Parts: sequence; C-alpha cells; structure tokens
Amino acid sequence: MKIIAIGRNYAEHAKELNNPIPSTPVIFMKPDTALLKDNKPFYHPDFSEDIHHEIEIVLKISKEGKHVNEKFATSYFEEIALGVDFTARDIQQRHKEKGLPWELAKAFDGSAPVSNFVPKSKFADIYNLNFRLDINQETRQQGNTKDLLFSFEKIIAFVSKYITLKKGDLIFTGTPEGVGKINIGDRLEGYLGDEKLLDFYVK
Ligand code: MG
Repeated sequence: MKIIAIGRNYAEHAKELNNPIPSTPVIFMKPDTALLKDNKPFYHPDFSEDIHHEIEIVLKISKEGKHVNEKFATSYFEEIALGVDFTARDIQQRHKEKGLPWELAKAFDGSAPVSNFVPKSKFADIYNLNFRLDINQETRQQGNTKDLLFSFEKIIAFVSKYITLKKGDLIFTGTPEGVGKINIGDRLEGYLGDEKLLDFYVK
C-alpha cells in the first residue's frame, strides 16, 4: 500500500506559501508507516519546530490502474475520507531552498492521519463538497472541492501514467488555504460535509 499526495492543488493555498500555480500536478509520496488511523493521537516529533496541518480529501483506490483514461478514472475510487498531510514546514523550507526532496518534511511517522472512509455515492456531488478543520473548536481551514485545480479523475489519470495504482492505495488530493502550526495539546476535528470524521489530539 502506498500513499500519494498532491501539492498545490488549491490556488489560494499555493499563493499563501508563495508558490506558483502548477500547470501539471505536483506529487510526492508517504510510506505506509506515515498512516495514523482510528483517531489515534499524533505524537509531535522533536525534529521540527513548525509542523503544519493540511486538511485534505483522501481517495481510496478500488482497483489496479495503469495509464487510466481520465474519462474512466471515476470508477477507480469508490470511497473517500479526510486526512491531514502533516508537514514539517521548517524542514520543507530549507529543502526547497536547496532544491532537495521533501521526504523528511512530509513522510515521517504519523504524518498521514486518515479518517474512516465513506462511500462517495453518499454525497450528492463530490465536486461541491465542503470540508474543514477545526483546532480547539476554532475553524482554521475551510475548503470546497469545486476549487480543486486538478480533479480527482485528472489526478488518477496523471499519476497512473507514471506509477501503477493498486487497490488500497491512498491519494491525498491537496489542501485549501489556512495551513498553520500545530502545538502539543491541540485537538483537531475534521468535517466532511456535515459529518465529523476526524477527532484527535496532538501529544
Ligand atoms: Mg498537502
């Protein structure tokens, strides 16, 4: 099982970090050891002073796909979830400046909390779907899938040109604006539509 993540997939988020709007998807990966399930606590690592939250919609791949045509890509995922792409922004910034890869900033243990999955058929329109992250009962990030730069289908078509997608793989589809630092003791609650799917603490 692998985790693929898309960077800069909401224009306002790309802008808040002074990044250009990409013309093709920006992708990176996290190992299976990054996965954090069942609302278990996230243990803040001591190698970063600036771990950021990035609330994202996560797709679960439902069948093997290679060179998937965008027209058929919708049949490659049946369920969606909420996830947090925890990012050590201080490490990422240093690595970006040197042109180095992002793994130490993105792929560390527990950096990919994921909620339970919900059938996509449960939602009237997955391209007009609100999601948000509250921290200590205050809304910090709010997004809607109508603002995605690259649709779920475009992502699947693009990624599968390079990397075979397998059943059970997860795709983090990008974060809206409002990213920021988390602190020990914080409570993170994530909502997909009206339903609270994430609820965990930083320890
Ligand atoms: Mg992200």
